[in-house]
Amino acid sequence: MSGVRRVVPLTFGWEHLGKSVSVYGADPSIRMREPVPGVLCEVDGGWLLLDTGFNPAFVRDVPFRRRFNDSLGDYEAELPDPVRDPLVAAFDLVGLDPSIVTAVGVSHFHLDHSGGLRWFAGEVPVFAQRAELEYVLDSPHPEPERNAMFRVDVDDPNIDWHVADGDVEIAPGVTAVLTAGHSPGHQSFVIDLDESVGGGGYVFAFDAADLQENLDDELPVGHAIGMPPEQTVEAIRRLKSIAAARGYRLLPGHDPDVWPAFTRELGYPTWDERMGF
Ligand SMILES: [Zn+2]
Repeated sequence: MSGVRRVVPLTFGWEHLGKSVSVYGADPSIRMREPVPGVLCEVDGGWLLLDTGFNPAFVRDVPFRRRFNDSLGDYEAELPDPVRDPLVAAFDLVGLDPSIVTAVGVSHFHLDHSGGLRWFAGEVPVFAQRAELEYVLDSPHPEPERNAMFRVDVDDPNIDWHVADGDVEIAPGVTAVLTAGHSPGHQSFVIDLDESVGGGGYVFAFDAADLQENLDDELPVGHAIGMPPEQTVEAIRRLKSIAAARGYRLLPGHDPDVWPAFTRELGYPTWDERMGF
């Protein structure tokens, strides 16, 4: 059995939003600046990218921004670089180039996770859950758009979809686990590190748990599709039990302290360091 050789945390930008988006019932007047994560995994035969960040057109093009991002209400996307695409900039920060990517896994199709898929259409296989793809492509317009899923990020006919109905190994040492709730086909990822790099592993919750407190206190996430938000705690418990059974570290998707600390811990620079903060 061979596992993942290297894990590289990426940050595609940030989002400014009310805490109640991340924690069900939290005070919406508490504002958060949450990092937008991606994870690169060096696997047998190449590099798997988990999540792709924002589509910058919906931030920089004023009429598009009005239609897509501003219509979401009290939400603002922040890109790391005024000119470059956030995906290119995030790779560059860690000294890598997006051309190394040989496969992509997408946790779900919210704007901050699927906005970079267009880079990979016709290039590499893309792994997602069938329920997620069906929701964004088959729900009556504009329901997905109102739920922050932008069809144009997903419906490229050149994308080489590999869809699953539940848990599936998508690369040697990388297993997608269905954690529906935040969205109909949300998936989290379990990473088994190769023995050659010491073994062990990680569980990346992505939006099944935005913040460390979602995990620690088993607090449901603030936004769910297809079930009441309270029930999203089931996915959190499932991830905690997977992580506990294997002795793996479980990481939340958007925690403003945990993500940069984890990035530094693995030896990679953060945007704050780059910008001199
Ligand atoms: Zn989301």
